[in-house]
Amino acid sequence: MSTLVMKFGGAALGTSAGLEQVLRIIADESKNWERLLVVVSALDGVTDMLLDAAQFARIDHPRGYRRIAANLRTRHLALIDQLPLDRPDRRTLQADIDQLLSGLLDDCLAIANNLNEELSPIHSDTVVAVGERLSARIIAALLRQNGIRGVAVDGADVLITDAVHGNANPDFGLTAQRVDAALLPILQRDMIPVVTGYIGATAAGVTTTLGRGGTDFTASVIGATLAADELWIWTDVDGMMTADPRQLPDARVVPDLGYSEAADFAYFGAKILHARMIAPLAEVSLPLRIKNIFQPGQAGTLISADQERGKPKIKAVTSVQGLAMRRPVSGSLAGVTRLVGNTLFKTLGMRSEVLIASQSSNSSFICLVIPTSIGIDGVDRLQRALQAKMAEYPEKMPWKIETVSLVSAIGTNLHRAPQLLSRILARLEAVEIYGIALGASNCSLSIAMAQEDAGAAVKRIHELIVKSGSGSA
Ligand code: ASP
Ligand code: MG
Repeated sequence: MSTLVMKFGGAALGTSAGLEQVLRIIADESKNWERLLVVVSALDGVTDMLLDAAQFARIDHPRGYRRIAANLRTRHLALIDQLPLDRPDRRTLQADIDQLLSGLLDDCLAIANNLNEELSPIHSDTVVAVGERLSARIIAALLRQNGIRGVAVDGADVLITDAVHGNANPDFGLTAQRVDAALLPILQRDMIPVVTGYIGATAAGVTTTLGRGGTDFTASVIGATLAADELWIWTDVDGMMTADPRQLPDARVVPDLGYSEAADFAYFGAKILHARMIAPLAEVSLPLRIKNIFQPGQAGTLISADQERGKPKIKAVTSVQGLAMRRPVSGSLAGVTRLVGNTLFKTLGMRSEVLIASQSSNSSFICLVIPTSIGIDGVDRLQRALQAKMAEYPEKMPWKIETVSLVSAIGTNLHRAPQLLSRILARLEAVEIYGIALGASNCSLSIAMAQEDAGAAVKRIHELIVKSGSGSA
């Protein structure tokens, strides 16, 4: 039985022009596949607004969170006003929106009443989940109005996770049972489930979220569990690009990637994919396509099995921010890695595994990679928290923290291509290199350097990719 899972991101859903495309794409694909399932994100920017609302609640600032709830109401109502819905449907949808937003105000009030406490991720998860709950209802109503049988489904009823709030991990066994119980009956009745991405729940039913950009992860877990034939991620760009097109206008679409390459690509900074979404796909060899809603005829990027015998080749270059810590004299790193681990966990709600990219032999330098899932202000928050912690131990830890960049060349079988690696490094002659690592999956060469050097380094490595022949062994 042919099954397709499609995920639509916030950028695709935010405008009525985008929604019209979404509708057209779902209508077309519902004819091509026996079973179709849709997973949606919140509208662009909504999750950020909801996180702000939770912060306002934490400092007991009712005007702040009420204003956000009012803005969200205006924005969603304005969007449904532009959609071709008839009166009763529009009214039901408005009532749903009002009910979700009044629940949001109750949750904010509960946080505010918990004064003196840190904002717990348990509470912020309940608050942010509203974004996807709003958008899934809108898409399902839009489908029904157009003769397609869409049903909104809450991800919290399907995706069962651990209790790591803010960055939860799915329990595949329990989720499979829920998929059977909650999704299969809908699919069997020839209807299209419109599932909220990003949201899950613990086995006890407490709402969790999967980390920023987590709708991809929802789609991948459900796709793998359903044994889907393909997963398509729809966005507003043409696919995964050889470099960030805002930085380098000559960046091109990468036509194909292996699972390990895509995982490293996401991990080292391609924000288009959630880094943990690839593993479940690789496990069952489920192919993933990234496509542009405004260019549905284009192939986009196809992510599928790694070419173990493939010719070594670089396909893309990324850059992410990291933190470097220096100390003038040598000493043990043990205290610092523990400190960093604790701070990461407390500040960012992340598990304590520290992603150290490089450390010098005399222990006077370490450089950390920060996963993109922590959000844009993550480096900043971590830096502030570490500095505050170090001030507590001025004697023991005379460390200086600075922000550095990690530039990564992503590609195939890099371990078998010394000439290719040296060609990459030869391009960096003006750069002071702090550390180099060849990723264990052989798909990435990462180079730590001062932030000011990263732009030029990315550009120089990218030239190898676009100049024909020079990016392969
Ligand atoms: N809405 C969530 C976020 O902004 C999840 C997603 O977009 O995938 O992170
Ligand atoms: Mg995303």
